[in-house]
Amino acid sequence: MSVTSIDTLIVGQGLAGSLLAFTLHQRGNQVLVMDDHQQGSASRVAAGMINPLAGMRFTRPAGVDAWLAEATVLYRHLEHALAHPLLHDVPMIRLLRSAEQRRFYQRQADDPASAPYLAGDFDAGGSGYDLGDPHGGFHQRRTGYLDTHALLDGLARWLSAHGALRQGPVDPHQLHFVGDQVRIGDVQARRVVFCEGWRMRDNPWFDWLPLTPAKGEILTLAEDPAQPDRAVVGGRWLLPVADGRRKLGATVCHDPLDTTPTAAARNELLADYRRLLPTASAPTVFNHQAGVRPNTRDRQPLLGAHPQHPQLVVFNGFGGRGSLTIPWHAARLADWLDGTGELPSHADIRRLNRQ
Ligand SMILES: Cc1cc2nc3c(=O)[nH]c(=O)nc-3n(C[C@H](O)[C@H](O)[C@H](O)COP(=O)(O)OP(=O)(O)OC[C@H]3O[C@@H](n4cnc5c(N)ncnc54)[C@H](O)[C@@H]3O)c2cc1C
Repeated sequence: MSVTSIDTLIVGQGLAGSLLAFTLHQRGNQVLVMDDHQQGSASRVAAGMINPLAGMRFTRPAGVDAWLAEATVLYRHLEHALAHPLLHDVPMIRLLRSAEQRRFYQRQADDPASAPYLAGDFDAGGSGYDLGDPHGGFHQRRTGYLDTHALLDGLARWLSAHGALRQGPVDPHQLHFVGDQVRIGDVQARRVVFCEGWRMRDNPWFDWLPLTPAKGEILTLAEDPAQPDRAVVGGRWLLPVADGRRKLGATVCHDPLDTTPTAAARNELLADYRRLLPTASAPTVFNHQAGVRPNTRDRQPLLGAHPQHPQLVVFNGFGGRGSLTIPWHAARLADWLDGTGELPSHADIRRLNRQ
């Protein structure tokens, strides 16, 4: 059997594997990506929403300015390379769900570092749209979404054109070490980077890392004049996408973990649609998808090498905000692989003890 020798074998062509492959390739690395295109990969289900002030408390994570800057540069660069729009700016309305939540908003409004992300608040009925907003809300800017399908399809074509993509599964049980290199089938690599999303749970080299995957379901709806032309987030979210349709999401479920859409989740989402837009008529549903987010216990990504086998590397744990966080972390992992930088301590798997 003839052997293909490369620098880096990347397992998984979701957002993590695709963006890391592009980043490494740009730095002169010989990469090969392998993916088995399983149904319901998180990156293919995700709405790709980018929201720097996520969560019930609208917290601004420490690295968010750098994440957003790196993501914007990379996605604009990819738009050029792939000749397709990818990053869409969409302003966002956040609906407050209680009087207490207004205090969390106020904390951000009082912090000058959050000013670039905020565009004023409003009381009930004051958003300029017909929303279910009994506690009022606020406007956000520097929000939008990444067209994940266009990015994955475009990068699949780009990788194929560079002879750097193969379809098919990689069985991590079947790898073996040849000197300080790794061999899987006919591929021999200086290192293997596993970007398997939630399926890392079945990888014997990294199954000890604390992944807490969460299934999510999402609907694609027909356009309706009652829907705002911006994103609305209030528990659930409604996002206008480029073809005029709306994405409505997303549920969170830890058991069972599968990629099968359920009637219960669909009904839950539609009930919340009525709460978000009380005067809108029942929407037409075009699509219903389910996927599994690679969440982690401490909500931080997982980057680094296996403790005994430095040739085996993990790049995972991007939870529900991969569109915003993956580009910056891909650049840091690439720096570390090049020997030109350290892993960021919040994401370095050395923070975790092997069970
Ligand atoms: C319902 C839902 C909504 C979401 N909404 C958003 C959002 O609005 N904004 C946002 O930023 N994020 C969102 N996310 C999260 C986002 O999808 C993830 O952060 C991101 O997609 C994770 O990418 P990944 O590449 O790590 O994993 P994945 O997308 O799961 O990719 C892993 C890939 O590896 C392949 N693979 C795995 N094991 C193997 C193997 N052994 N051999 C070969 N191939 C393999 C899989 O087939 C898959 O293609 C959402 C997720 C879900 C489920």
